[in-house]
Amino acid sequence: MDYKIRIWPDKILKQKTKEVDFFDDRLKEFIDVMFQRMYEEEGVGLAANQIGIPYQILVLDTNVKKYEAQENEEEGIKMALVNPRIVEKEGEVESTEGCLSFPGVQITIPRAERVRVVAKNEEGEDIEIDTDGFLAIVLQHEIDHLNGIPFIAHLPPVKRRMVLEKYMKSLRQTVKAK
Ligand SMILES: [Zn+2]
Repeated sequence: MDYKIRIWPDKILKQKTKEVDFFDDRLKEFIDVMFQRMYEEEGVGLAANQIGIPYQILVLDTNVKKYEAQENEEEGIKMALVNPRIVEKEGEVESTEGCLSFPGVQITIPRAERVRVVAKNEEGEDIEIDTDGFLAIVLQHEIDHLNGIPFIAHLPPVKRRMVLEKYMKSLRQTVKAK
């Protein structure tokens, strides 16, 4: 596997990923390569299917980008989550997001303000995260990926069509230029 970033409309981005039942060296290798690719692309988070791994794994490191929302936090958070699920959502915020799988696209969509996520760590131990702010947004974006849901799915249909048409056009131009 080349672990290249998969770009929409790659079908792996539309499929729900499989639950991980192997907490071994193979999982650690996946997590290592995911962090590596995420840092190379200067992403804040990465879902496994974004580099062709069809399993429920996400990595994130909020140190990658310093956002205003983070100003008061001394240090960002770095973590890898296996089989993550959102079990509680609260409130709503507007979130402006980009995505490594949609180069050049930046959109503002509604997200929950606070989420509670249950997951396993790479050792297979249960973990729980209750958070708001930037971390809550990153978690929602990446968990959506693992369920085959792209961030544009949160746009109203007419807006979504417009964004997609523009994106597909720029994609064709990029391909032609190569
Ligand atoms: Zn994304």
